[in-house]
Amino acid sequence: MEWKALAGNPAIKERLAAQSRGRGLSHAYILSGPPGSGKRTLASLLSAAMVCTGPEPRPCGTCPACHKAEAGIHPDIITVEGEKGKDLTVAQIRQMRADAYIRPNEGARKVYLIQNAGTMNASAQNAMLKLLEEGPPYAAFLLLAESEDELLPTVRSRCEVLRLAPVDRREGEAWLRARFPQLPAEETAAAALRCGGILGRAVAELDGGGEEERELLDLAVRLADTVESGDELGRMELTASMEKWERERMERLLSALIGELARRLECPGRSEGQRRRWMACIQGLRPLQAACGFNAAPGHLAGWLCAQLSQTPQ
Ligand SMILES: [Zn+2]
Repeated sequence: MEWKALAGNPAIKERLAAQSRGRGLSHAYILSGPPGSGKRTLASLLSAAMVCTGPEPRPCGTCPACHKAEAGIHPDIITVEGEKGKDLTVAQIRQMRADAYIRPNEGARKVYLIQNAGTMNASAQNAMLKLLEEGPPYAAFLLLAESEDELLPTVRSRCEVLRLAPVDRREGEAWLRARFPQLPAEETAAAALRCGGILGRAVAELDGGGEEERELLDLAVRLADTVESGDELGRMELTASMEKWERERMERLLSALIGELARRLECPGRSEGQRRRWMACIQGLRPLQAACGFNAAPGHLAGWLCAQLSQTPQ
């Protein structure tokens, strides 16, 4: 278990390694990025580094504390999450606060890993803020959120923000090949391209467990086919089926679609003009992807998608 377990993101890894060697790791971080971008991997590494009893570079990966952290059984690493996918409540934050005042069992620090921190309402966030301001010095908090904007500015200002970035294609491909050595290289390469640098998506797809992921990819391919063939009716039917989708699902579809369009853009035989139009189509999907993060109505998003794809001549 070393920093390199996290793909890409060299700036984050260097920053944390330098902090660990120097002044020590902070007591509060926000780990932000879309689902599949590596927040959980980074949180495991960071929490292991905080309880590690071995020499630098930490996490050393070999001390008993690191082994326990890796197995998910270290008593001083505590995960806090909403019940059955529900929002985190103020009661949970208060409970965490009470727990934080009990000294660590084994390590020098006690680490709280707060999943879906963006689901805290204002009163839960204010309770969190108090804990960040007044908590015991040994307590550390890792807040995982899709975007740091989900948290109140007062909470943000008490934390260091670690924003996970998409991994570049070449590195993503190498990382996936190392993780799935049994698969043909073309398959991992294609998954690396489709995932748009969000490797968790490629892992879900290649793991075979990602039935839904595969459905989304299939739909992305069919939508890209309608762009290629100019089949407007087919496109309308496909997008009409998305009108009641959750925004998060739409966001994943868009990311798969952008990956698919980017892959087709590279097909041999595309003229310069065609490449420009495909590129414009991809770029036109970005604001739509961003809108999925706001309060846009899913029916609206589906209509917007259909209109956007219709603008692209073959
Ligand atoms: Zn260690």
